[in-house]
Amino acid sequence: MSKDIATPGRTAEILKKYGFLFKKSLGQNFLIDSNILRRITETAGLTKETNVIEIGPGIGALTEHLAREAREVVAFEIDQRLMPILADTLSPYSNVHIEHADILKADVEDVIARQFTDPKAPLKIVANLPYYVTTPIILNLLHSRVPVNSMTFMLQKEVAERISAVPGTKSYGSLTIAIQYYMEASLAFIVPKNVFMPKPNVDSGIIHLVRREKPLAHVQDETFFFEVVRAAFVNRRKTLWNNLAQKYPELKAKRQETEERFARIEIDFKRRGETLSIPEFAAVATELAEILKKIA
Ligand code: SAM
Repeated sequence: MSKDIATPGRTAEILKKYGFLFKKSLGQNFLIDSNILRRITETAGLTKETNVIEIGPGIGALTEHLAREAREVVAFEIDQRLMPILADTLSPYSNVHIEHADILKADVEDVIARQFTDPKAPLKIVANLPYYVTTPIILNLLHSRVPVNSMTFMLQKEVAERISAVPGTKSYGSLTIAIQYYMEASLAFIVPKNVFMPKPNVDSGIIHLVRREKPLAHVQDETFFFEVVRAAFVNRRKTLWNNLAQKYPELKAKRQETEERFARIEIDFKRRGETLSIPEFAAVATELAEILKKIA
């Protein structure tokens, strides 16, 4: 086995050899601690039967750990300057393919079909994400038809806390619900700033997402459900009723009916949005759709 890329010495050596300068705008903070990498792959639970997609391999620090433990790895990297470096650092691994592409624009399904020798093998996504685009990357993947079993991501600690939050806490919000509706989310561990080169401004966290067999709640119209959820969090200090009446002003004429209907599903409309569970939001959306349909 070759020497790990993720040590301060080897990383500095590689960067120097290629005269590589970090691009802050691409969220380039490379991991220089093999223990953290081991804990990430452990959290992901890889086996030689698993295909892995990585986003943003950098100089290959995480990629080589994935290559050692998984069946095959396909890594999407946006920065052209990293292509010759990755070809060099990952040369000991024959089960890695680097796709030079922006993950937000790539046709991931097509790449899976073309690059994995067995595209039907169980698929996991593992990445130390570029922090400037964390949320769009995760939401895009969730809404795509990429058949992923789990996702293990390093991201800003604060975002990791929001994604894994429970109702009634400050971190709980529309991002929590957008993700937990499809995935079981857990915060695996916190990562300090000093295991990166260069050191970022914020601490990080590892989030582990496992796809649910079916969404957490029965929802008739997902677009409307997510619209209601976002509306309920527009002003966190306002009640559910006030936020909903602001989003749907026609509701004001049906205040009493709304209160009664919500009471029937055991939801006091003076509660704050942040106290509602996902099934409660689903029930609220169903009632609201009925009321609004009658007004229209
Ligand atoms: N995986 C490496 C590690 O852990 O050391 C590097 C992680 S670094 C936080 C993020 C990587 O994502 C960088 O290599 C950056 O160039 C790449 N990147 C940024 N935006 C991207 C995008 N839209 N699509 C693909 N890769 C991207």
